[in-house]
Amino acid sequence: MDSNMIKTRFAPSPTGFLHVGGARTALFNWLYARKHGGQFVLRIEDTDQVRSTAESAAGILSDLQWLGLNWDCGPQPGGVKNEYFQSMRLDLYNAHLDKLVKDGRAYEAYETPQQLAAMRMVAEKMKRPFRYRRNMPGRAERGSGPTVLRFEMPFETITFHDLILGDISVGGEEHDDIIIRKSDGFPTYHFAVVVDDHDMGITHVLRAQEHLMNTPKHLGLYQALGWQPPAHAHMPLVFNMDNTKMSKRDKTKAARAAAAAWIKQGHTLETLVEKSGIPADQLKEFLDKKTDDSRLAAAIGAALAVHLPEIDVQDFRRSGYLSDALLNFIALIGWSPGENREILSREEMLQLFSLETIGKTSGRFDRKKLLWMNGEYIRKRSIDDLLHDLAAFNAVTDYPIKHATESQQRDLLAMYQERTGTLAEMAENSRFFFEEPEMDAAAFKKHVESGNGRGLLQQIRDMLDSITDWSKDQLVPVIEKIIELGEKRGSAPQTLRVAICGGSVSPPLLETMCLLGRTTTLARIDKALQKTG
Ligand code: GLU
Repeated sequence: MDSNMIKTRFAPSPTGFLHVGGARTALFNWLYARKHGGQFVLRIEDTDQVRSTAESAAGILSDLQWLGLNWDCGPQPGGVKNEYFQSMRLDLYNAHLDKLVKDGRAYEAYETPQQLAAMRMVAEKMKRPFRYRRNMPGRAERGSGPTVLRFEMPFETITFHDLILGDISVGGEEHDDIIIRKSDGFPTYHFAVVVDDHDMGITHVLRAQEHLMNTPKHLGLYQALGWQPPAHAHMPLVFNMDNTKMSKRDKTKAARAAAAAWIKQGHTLETLVEKSGIPADQLKEFLDKKTDDSRLAAAIGAALAVHLPEIDVQDFRRSGYLSDALLNFIALIGWSPGENREILSREEMLQLFSLETIGKTSGRFDRKKLLWMNGEYIRKRSIDDLLHDLAAFNAVTDYPIKHATESQQRDLLAMYQERTGTLAEMAENSRFFFEEPEMDAAAFKKHVESGNGRGLLQQIRDMLDSITDWSKDQLVPVIEKIIELGEKRGSAPQTLRVAICGGSVSPPLLETMCLLGRTTTLARIDKALQKTG
C-alpha cells in the first residue's frame, strides 16, 4: 500500500437504522477517499453489547449499498461478523489496555452509578462541571463497586487543527479521566475508535460536529499510546427547517402526537392496541415517552394512516425517493459546491468535493426541495434505470405494482414519469390498475350520475365493445370519437375516466385503457352503469 494513501472510514454503531445524518457522514468519507484515489473503510462499532444488534448492522450495510457507497474494506454483505466488527477485536484492545496500565496511564476505578451521580451533584452545587480525575479526593475503594479502567488524561491544554473548523483548544481543566474499559470487559467507544483508526491506517477522520469534544480525549490517548493521530474534520449538524436538530425522535414525537389526537377524538387505548398490534404495556411505555423505539412509531403511523417524517434512509426508500436523488440532496446539507449548483451526478460531486467547501454552521434539511429534486431525477432518467429504482423500492414495500410484470412496470413508469414526485406516489396512484378502485363519490356524481352521464357511458361502452383488437391503433380513433361525444367537448372522456379509474385524475386514457385491457375496462364500465341503475 502507498504510505501516502488517504484512508477514510465510516464507523456506525449498529443500534438502529442508518439515518440521513449518518448517510451524509458516509458519503463525505466516501467522496474524500474516492476523490484522492484512497480507500474507504466500513467498521461496525458494536462495543455496546446491550444496544447493538446484528439486524441493525445488516440494515446499515444494505442502506449503504442502496446508496451506492461501496467500501474497500469492511463487513461482508449481509453483515456477517468479521474483523471489521469491534466485538471481534477484543484481544487487540486488551493488549493496548494492558500497555496503558503498565505505563501507569490507565487505572482501575470502582464507583457505582449512584456514587458518580452523587459526586456530580456535589460539583454542580459548587457550580463546577464534574470532572473525574485520578487525584481527586473521595474515590471509591477497590472492590466496592464495578471495576472499570479509566485513562489518565494529560493536564495540559490540547490543541488540534480541524480541517473544517480551524484550531480547536481544550484547556487542561476541562479534561476528564474517561472510562476506556467497561465492567463487562468491553472497551468504550473512545478507546476502540483510537485503536482501530490507528490499526486500520485511517488518515482522515471526518465525522459530525457532535463528536468534536471527543477528539481531545482521543488525542490524549494517541499521545499516551505513542501514535501519530489522523487528521480530523467535523461536519456541521443537520437541522430541520424549524431549527430543531433533526433526530430519530422526530418520528416518535409525530407518532405520539397522532395517537394523542386520535384518543382525544374519543377512541380508547384498547382500540389502538388492536389496530396497531402493539401489546398494551409497550404501547403505554411508548406514549409515556419511556422508549423511543421507531418500530413502535411506525406501527402507530400505519395503524392510524398518518405519515411520519422520514428520518432513516429506509424511510426515504420506502417513500419512493431514488437513491441518487437522496444522495445528491444530502450532499448539499452543509456542503456547497459553488455556482448555485444543485443537481449533481456522483462524478460531478467527486470533481467538486473538498473539505474547504464544507460549511461550519449547521445545514438545513428542506423536505420540499428533496421532493422537487426527486421529481427532477425521475423525469430525467431512462425507463431502464427507473426499473432498477422501482425494483429497489418494491423490495421494501408492498404496493400492487410489486407484483406487476416487467412490461407493465415499464408502461406505468412511462405513464407516470412526468407526473409523479416519488415512486410511492406512483405506486399509490396506480393501484386502480391492479385492484378494483374505491369510487370517488363526488366525481361519480358529477361525471356519471348527473346530466346525460349514464347515456354517454352506455354509448362509450358500445363503441369500445365493437373493438376486436384491443390495441393502440384501434383505440386511438375510438377515443377521438369519444372526445366528440356529448354536449360539452371533453365531458365524455371524463365520464369514462371516472368509471374505469374511480376518480377524475389518471394518466391519459389511451395508455390507461391499453394497460387495463379489454375485459377489465368493460367490466368496470358495466359496474358503473349498474351503480347508476
Ligand atoms: N460509532 C460512532 C458513531 O456512530 C462513530 C463516531 C466516529 O466517527 O468516530 O457515532
